[in-house]
Amino acid sequence: MKNVLTIAGADPSGGAGIQADLSVFAALGVRGLSVITALTAQNRREVYSTRNVSADFVAAQIESLLKEFRVDAVKIGMTGSAKNIKTIERLLREHHLEKVVFDPVMRSTSGHGLLNRPGIKAIRDILPILTLITPNLSEAASISGLPDIDDIKGMEEAASTIHSMGAPSVLVKGGHLQKAPVDVFFDGKRFYHFQGRRLKGKKERFHGTGCVLSASIAAGLAKGSKLEKAVQDAKAFLEKTLAERV
Ligand code: PLP
Repeated sequence: MKNVLTIAGADPSGGAGIQADLSVFAALGVRGLSVITALTAQNRREVYSTRNVSADFVAAQIESLLKEFRVDAVKIGMTGSAKNIKTIERLLREHHLEKVVFDPVMRSTSGHGLLNRPGIKAIRDILPILTLITPNLSEAASISGLPDIDDIKGMEEAASTIHSMGAPSVLVKGGHLQKAPVDVFFDGKRFYHFQGRRLKGKKERFHGTGCVLSASIAAGLAKGSKLEKAVQDAKAFLEKTLAERV
C-alpha cells in the first residue's frame, strides 16, 4: 500500500483540511499519514478562530512519522504561518521527499485569514522543492504579485510567473471565475486547460474543494500516475465527491 502524508489544518466539520484529506486517501486506497499544522473552530459556513501549532511540534510530528514510514507523496494544505512553511521545507529537503503537492491556503471562502503575512514569502521560497502548486485566483495573484486575475489570460500569466519563480508545475484553479470554471496548468513547456462543469448548490457543498483536489492529486502521484493524469483523475474524483455531497 502506498503512503501519502498530508500536512494541513484540522477542520472539525470534516469537509476541508486533514479530515477531508484522510477520507480522500481512504476512498482512493492509500494509507493516510497526517500532520496537523493548525486547529480551527469552524463549520462548513464560517471559520470562527484558529490556533497555529508551533513549528517545533510540526517538526516533531513529521520526524516521528519518517522514522517508521516510507512516504510516497505529500500534500501540504493550510500551514498557518511562515515558520511552519520553513520547517516543512527544511524537513522535506533533508529527507529528500518527492511528489509534493502544495495547496497554498491563505483565506477561507468566508474571508477568515488562514496564513500570517510573512507566509507569502515562505511560499515563494518553498516553490522549487514542489512537484505542483495549486493556487486559486487570489492565491495566484498574491504569490505572483500580479494584479487581480479574472480571466484565462491572467491565469496563464500567473502560472508562468509562478513557474519562473521556481515551481516546476502550476495549476491555477478557476472555480471562482465568472464564466465556466477552467483550471490552467503550466509545466514550463505548455499550457493545458482542464474544463470543468459549474455545479449548483449551497456554498456548504463546496467547502474544502481545494483540499479534496490536492489530496487526490497526491494520491494519484503516489500510485504512479504522471502529473497531468493525476490532475485529470483528481478533477473527476472531485466532481463525483461533490455530486454525492448534500
Ligand atoms: N479550513 C481548513 C483547515 C482548510 O484547509 C481550508 C481550505 O483549504 C479551509 C478551512 C477553507 O475551506 P473553504 O474555503 O473551502 O471553505
